[in-house]
Amino acid sequence: MTYSLAIHGGAGTILKSRLTPEREAAYHAGLQAALAAGAAVLRADGRALDAVTAAVCVLEDDPLFNAGRGAVFTSAGAQEMDAAVMDGRDRRAGAVAGIFGPKNPVLLARAVMERTGHVCLIGPNALELARAAGLAFEDPEYFFTEARWQSLQKVLALAAEGRVSDDPAQRHGTVGAVARDRAGDLAAATSTGGMTGKAPGRVGDTPMIGAGTFADNATCAVSGTGHGEVFIRWTAAAEIAARMRHRGDSLEAAANAVVMDELAAVDGSGGVIAVDRDGTIAMPFNCEGMYRGWVREGSAAETAIYADAR
Ligand code: ASP
Repeated sequence: MTYSLAIHGGAGTILKSRLTPEREAAYHAGLQAALAAGAAVLRADGRALDAVTAAVCVLEDDPLFNAGRGAVFTSAGAQEMDAAVMDGRDRRAGAVAGIFGPKNPVLLARAVMERTGHVCLIGPNALELARAAGLAFEDPEYFFTEARWQSLQKVLALAAEGRVSDDPAQRHGTVGAVARDRAGDLAAATSTGGMTGKAPGRVGDTPMIGAGTFADNATCAVSGTGHGEVFIRWTAAAEIAARMRHRGDSLEAAANAVVMDELAAVDGSGGVIAVDRDGTIAMPFNCEGMYRGWVREGSAAETAIYADAR
């Protein structure tokens, strides 16, 4: 069996006119670095779970993406991060919500899965687990980026006038990875700072299993990005798997139906990356762009940003 890996770095109003060539190149480089990290695991006969974790760590470390370093700010000027992992072999899952401090929130989500009998931890006890697991912590200066801070100021200024930004890509973002390894096992991981100006304590779709993150060897692995509240209400990721399981839909048909029809019809802007047990990859999104990358064993890694660049 051959491996497949897909990643995303968020979706939204990503227009060529709004990205300088240098910034565009930086996004492609960041995506390529994440693909390389994940593919290295898969090439060495590693597990899909390790590959998605490795790819997401690279994206969390890159301040361009809204996860880990460079996460967006809440309305109170804090950073609160959500992350999840899921293992398609047995549907084991781990998640954290609203955390700040661990350098790589995805590693803490994984620790929840591997070191506790629970699926999701929040608050001081989540951080306690991170310390017990020996995970790295960083200071506020590490996570801070001027661009995200300025985005918050814009969102707050508009909110004071009772308006919202016309550029959702400035307000949110998320990173994620899905993989099938050489053993045929699937896994998904997702990590985010959420949405700029979100209420303190708001939790998005990312750490909610079946909404922004899902993996089951019987069907597919999915990682979503977009308007989290809608992804939660439509249980977006689980719905893709359910269409495959109950209707016999192909991955592409199921992912397209959920993203292009269901979510698009209800203000659910965004997209997903998904892989099935045959290693087929689908990456539909219903907005202008989605930072994304994919690699299949034997082919070169590819990255794309806009809708017409597949
Ligand atoms: N889905 C994320 C959230 O709502 C944001 C995003 O993907 O852009 O937290």
